[in-house]
Amino acid sequence: MESTTSTRKHFTINDFEIGRPLGRGKFGRVYLARLKENHFIVALKVLFKSEIVKEGLEHQLRREVEIQTHLQHLNILRLYNYFHDDIRVYLILEYAPGGELYKELQRKQKLTEQHTATIIEELSDALTYCHENKVIHRDIKPENLLLGLRGEVKIADFGWSVHTPSLRRKTMCGTLDYLPPEMIARRMYNETVDLWCIGVLCYELLVGKPPFESNTHSETYRRICKVNFKFPSSVPAGAQDLISKLLRYNPSERLSLAQVLEHPWVREHSQRILPPCSLMAS
Ligand code: AMP
Repeated sequence: MESTTSTRKHFTINDFEIGRPLGRGKFGRVYLARLKENHFIVALKVLFKSEIVKEGLEHQLRREVEIQTHLQHLNILRLYNYFHDDIRVYLILEYAPGGELYKELQRKQKLTEQHTATIIEELSDALTYCHENKVIHRDIKPENLLLGLRGEVKIADFGWSVHTPSLRRKTMCGTLDYLPPEMIARRMYNETVDLWCIGVLCYELLVGKPPFESNTHSETYRRICKVNFKFPSSVPAGAQDLISKLLRYNPSERLSLAQVLEHPWVREHSQRILPPCSLMAS
């Protein structure tokens, strides 16, 4: 499956056996699929060109494909390759057998300290790699995180990601809960937006709902801009310390990813397991 832009293998739909649907998103459907040639299992995401054009998303899709094909990390969903016909675009993705973190959170209501700290370590490691490659994700939230065979997190959606630095002005759609103050105020921002999102995610995983959740969009906006949130007493002191050092209005005051990885609560509770091959590689 490996490819570079210059030596990219050109697949067609006839190279695959299509299995069960894995889910559907706003713009397409995702199927379990298997390469006929070697029985390699993948997730095939099928997007309709007409819908992408109608929504003006060609540029965003190109960027997503460009960024994700070049990122190779245990906790980032691989985008192996892509192809298209007259009607559809097909993305050949790594299959994430554990499904969505969002659904796991719905099932369990909240996650344990161990599980949350493990996810925070995995994400911080993956985002360190992204930032080293000058990519900001900007959209870390449970809906965009899939789970691997051993429950490890896979960052899945690079539809919003950009190369740094950025002064992008975009209409925001979907949930506001994870937007940092500087993006709400449409100021210049940098990779520290991802640190804000890690703080929001850590809170949501431990509490069961995000810190600024409100009945109306304007109330959510207002609370984010004032960094107005409270911890239920169930949130352990170590996690409160980490989250309050990430949810800082001033981006330069937020912990760095290295500091998150070294934070005592993360170190004490994370149970991240690295597969033997990645230990040998490091
Ligand atoms: P999306 O269009 O990316 O939002 O995908 C729609 C749904 O398909 C997701 O919410 C997942 O439940 C499922 N899905 C997408 N990609 C994968 C994958 N690589 N492995 C397993 N399930 C996936």
